Amino acid sequence: MTTIEIEDMITVGAFADKLALPVGKVITELMKNGVMATVNERIDFDTAQIITGELGLEVELVRKAAESVVLTRPKADINDPNAVTRPPVVAVMGHVDHGKTSLLDAIKGSDVVKGEAGGITQHISAYYIEHDGRAITFLDTPGHEAFAALREHGAQLTDVVIIVVAADDGIKPQTLEAIRFARKAGVKIVVAITKMDKPEANVDRIKQQLAEQELLPEDWGGDTVILPVSAKAGTGIKELLDMVLLVADVEDLRAVANVPASGLIIESHMEQGRGPVAKALITKGTLKAGDVVVAGGTVGKIRNLEGTDGKSLKQATPSMPVVLTGLKQLPEFGDSFQVVPTEKEGRALASLAAFGRQSGAGHMNISSNELIRLINRSNQLQELNVIVKTDVQGSLTSVIDSLKTLDNEEVAVRIVGSGVGPINENDIHMAATSHAIIYGFHTLLPASIRQMTARDKVSVRLFQVIYELIDDAKQELTKLLVPEVIETPHGRMIVRGIFKTTKTEVICGGEVTKGKLTVPSLAKVMRDKEELAEVEVTNLKRGPQDAKEVLEGEMCGLSFTSKSRVDIQGGDVLELFTRELKDRSL
Ligand code: GDP
Repeated sequence: MTTIEIEDMITVGAFADKLALPVGKVITELMKNGVMATVNERIDFDTAQIITGELGLEVELVRKAAESVVLTRPKADINDPNAVTRPPVVAVMGHVDHGKTSLLDAIKGSDVVKGEAGGITQHISAYYIEHDGRAITFLDTPGHEAFAALREHGAQLTDVVIIVVAADDGIKPQTLEAIRFARKAGVKIVVAITKMDKPEANVDRIKQQLAEQELLPEDWGGDTVILPVSAKAGTGIKELLDMVLLVADVEDLRAVANVPASGLIIESHMEQGRGPVAKALITKGTLKAGDVVVAGGTVGKIRNLEGTDGKSLKQATPSMPVVLTGLKQLPEFGDSFQVVPTEKEGRALASLAAFGRQSGAGHMNISSNELIRLINRSNQLQELNVIVKTDVQGSLTSVIDSLKTLDNEEVAVRIVGSGVGPINENDIHMAATSHAIIYGFHTLLPASIRQMTARDKVSVRLFQVIYELIDDAKQELTKLLVPEVIETPHGRMIVRGIFKTTKTEVICGGEVTKGKLTVPSLAKVMRDKEELAEVEVTNLKRGPQDAKEVLEGEMCGLSFTSKSRVDIQGGDVLELFTRELKDRSL
């Protein structure tokens, strides 16, 4: 039995790759099990396990721990009735000197290569172009480092990879790597044969090499789209973009736009006078200037929202790359971002995200998945889906009316089905597809139907007393409430000396001017009443001895860690506090 490690969610293409099976076989098996997924769509671990079993493979799947907060494009978007068509996100990859940058410049219609001194950055840059009145987003991965980074974080962002092969040079190691990447990510491939203006250009030789990589050209009976282009002569560019849009149309790319935005940070840097500047790609929702955003371990209200051309935007929608300022600290490449309702909530979530990444963070160590779930939940009305069945019409109306009284602006009961009579097969199907609880009042659950509830994991609850039924629904709604974030201040220290500063750690000394300091705790670094950063206090010392707490009036040493460098100075104040999440009640 072989062991294969997979993430919580994996694209069908990547899963087939891991199993060394043709994608078609996996898709067919999924269909047999009622899952309609294309090569780019993601399936969860449990589904993957079922399919492996159904295929009778001698393979054991183990879950790979999520490494960082990376948003996957939710499959639900595709079926969500609110999802709208979004522009494709395209990465251009290939061997060095094969004309990637020149091709991108030709596409952008400007000569940016010359301005880009050195050109090699660790980051992915992105821009937005219009072709025939339709938008296309390009991700640029200039250096090899960035290429690896994109592989790690950006696979979910990319819909199409344009693989660039120079007509006078042919397939090279990085070309092969790009092909492997695209296949692994389950991304559509379009091949651009560049430098066609060169006399030594030899398209047939390259088609032969591509065919050897199982990229059989269309004109040879395969399904690989191959386009000859020349960035220098400007030929083939229009056809290439037409083809990218065609591929996008076939893929039917969609995302929900009418919700608060989320996405991925693809670049960040400090800028004089503007502070932290982040480039982000929106995967879902609409981002507006003034929105409060959590990005990895930091938070802020968006001061300027700009397109990648530097022009100010009022709002931005899925697949758009944007530049934003206003974050308190630099987020990291690959951090996910989310719009949150308030800055306070954002701060709580940001620090949880930061701590979630550090091992051994104790009670603060909330997993990234949990965090994303929390943020998503705090953004929108949470609904409890229920199906109500009763003995007579009169009681049906009163149960539904009573359930409706539980609604408030955060949580609500949504009646997805109702009727008079015993609980039947149809109710179970409906409950399974809409994740609803079935409430039965003075009604029956026949034995044959009871068996179905176990198979379909449907919860049926029968009641004879109406207020017990309502109480049960109330408890279910309470579980949907986003927990309250409670911050308790407990002490203040004024910094008198700084002993050591690194990018992520500071050791300083000072005097406790209020309350008491304890460890572990969080602290706000304040200067002139303005918060510079939020940090985690890791150690306290009274003289040379480690101390658990230090009281008002005493001198002490203190170490803290932070996600990015904190420029601490004498006279700054550390306000120590703890933060907890508390379950709420209705
Ligand atoms: P990258 O490393 O893949 O980004 O490649 P560049 O775009 O920097 O191009 C590498 C070299 O090939 C440069 O000297 C370009 O001027 C040249 N080049 C790129 N595209 C073309 C083309 O279409 N025709 C010709 N003749 N030269 C090209």
